[in-house]
Amino acid sequence: MTATGTAITADDLPFDNAFAALPPAFFTRLMPTPLPAPYFVAASPSAAALVGLDAEKLKDAELVAVFTGNHVPPRAKPLAAVYSGHQFGVWAGQLGDGRAILLGELPGPDGPMEIQLKGAGLTPYSRMGDGRAVLRSSIREFLCSEAMAALGIPTTRALMITGSDKPIMRETVETSAVATRMAPSFVRFGSFEHWFYRDHPEELRILADYVIDAFYPALRSQPNPYKALLAEVTRRTARLIAQWQAVGFMHGVMNTDNMSILGLTLDYGPFGFMEAFDSQHICNHTDQQGRYAYANQPQIGHWNCFALGQALLPLIGTVEDAQEALGVYEAEFAAKIDELLHAKLGLGMFYENDRALFESMFSLMHDNHVDFTQFFRKLSLLQVDLPELDAPIRDLFLDREAFDAWALDYRARLRKELRNDIERRRAMDQVNPKFVLRNYLAQVAIEKAQNKDFSEVEKLLSVLARPFDEQPENEAYAALPPDWASHLEVSCSS
Ligand code: AMP
Ligand code: MG
Repeated sequence: MTATGTAITADDLPFDNAFAALPPAFFTRLMPTPLPAPYFVAASPSAAALVGLDAEKLKDAELVAVFTGNHVPPRAKPLAAVYSGHQFGVWAGQLGDGRAILLGELPGPDGPMEIQLKGAGLTPYSRMGDGRAVLRSSIREFLCSEAMAALGIPTTRALMITGSDKPIMRETVETSAVATRMAPSFVRFGSFEHWFYRDHPEELRILADYVIDAFYPALRSQPNPYKALLAEVTRRTARLIAQWQAVGFMHGVMNTDNMSILGLTLDYGPFGFMEAFDSQHICNHTDQQGRYAYANQPQIGHWNCFALGQALLPLIGTVEDAQEALGVYEAEFAAKIDELLHAKLGLGMFYENDRALFESMFSLMHDNHVDFTQFFRKLSLLQVDLPELDAPIRDLFLDREAFDAWALDYRARLRKELRNDIERRRAMDQVNPKFVLRNYLAQVAIEKAQNKDFSEVEKLLSVLARPFDEQPENEAYAALPPDWASHLEVSCSS
């Protein structure tokens, strides 16, 4: 079972169990709880290829049973991991995999991927929860993971979704699903905080050594590998959040238990993509204070790295060393966002005043509630010497004169560039997506799926797999949200 498409049976799945080889304090071994009469909902071909599977084969009843948790292959060693975390800035104590069960790792062309069943039943960390996930939130996580990957943004992946008619209670009664997620590791900042706050330095060290040896082996030769780990995770987090900002992605619940030690986007809940631009937009309606509003994400990322730094302090040694490692955040974020904004505006060169042009652009977008994705995508149509052809972009603005004033500055800046309009447009269209997972698109797919029509999930997956392509046949998927969508709300209840 190495080549894609090779016929395999569930019991051949070549699971390895590196995380399960850690001491027992890190997890609880347990079996997933079966769901009645599971059915196939969707699978991601590109995710399947990462573990040498064929998405078509995942429709087989045998594999549906495996990825629902109804049949555990012999080489899997199912477990739920323990972690803690800061939720909304407050220490929350022990959390852990309350409804996610790790089966083990499957090998693949880019290295092993851990396979985790989200919604596979109760664990010792379920607290008040039922260990389940609803179809609605599983579809959102599935589509968004795969959309983010296609945008080139580091993320956990989603292999497939299975469903079951077993009812579960949220704000209303919904049906159950299991989303199979994949990542090289699901270790979180909160996995380290757990041992720091319990004052268990030995487990802290074991976990850090595991992460370094498995995922950051180059850091082993650094004078202080733990400090180097903090600096590298801080850098990755800063770059990740710059990438979120550049596509208008809002995570919604940036608690430290949702922050990946590999710098991946992790735990898709009440996330959203910015539509009408509002820098203070809050996508999670449970977050009344707006702690995780769009404009706050960069500083929250830094705050979360501090929480990790605090937890790693006993290993790092001195506060000065920890602070030095954390000190890379601001410069790394600034450099990355600067690079991304230059690319978004089609600027190949860097000038001192460019930041002022970006700031005036964002305040113009904010004042006019311009659709984030459409603005950048249509900006590539601008021709330096033909302002009379600006209508497609200009018409996005209520205050057209304000746009004209900004466009005058933008044109002046473009004249310093070496590329012509056509070359610039081509470059901009490779970084400014035409298609993102708008809430209403997910909602349409969810409502059909709730009536057992999964075709729209598959359709959206395929459109979002090529976000930078024009796809004229799929123009409707780039449209602004319809009026009914203004009432859509997403919360933590998933
Ligand atoms: P989240 O906000 O989804 O990141 O979840 C925070 C914590 O609550 C994690 O420990 C989850 O495992 C747990 N949790 C969320 N939903 C459920 C559920 N339905 N059943 C059990 N645990 C849950
Ligand atoms: Mg979580």
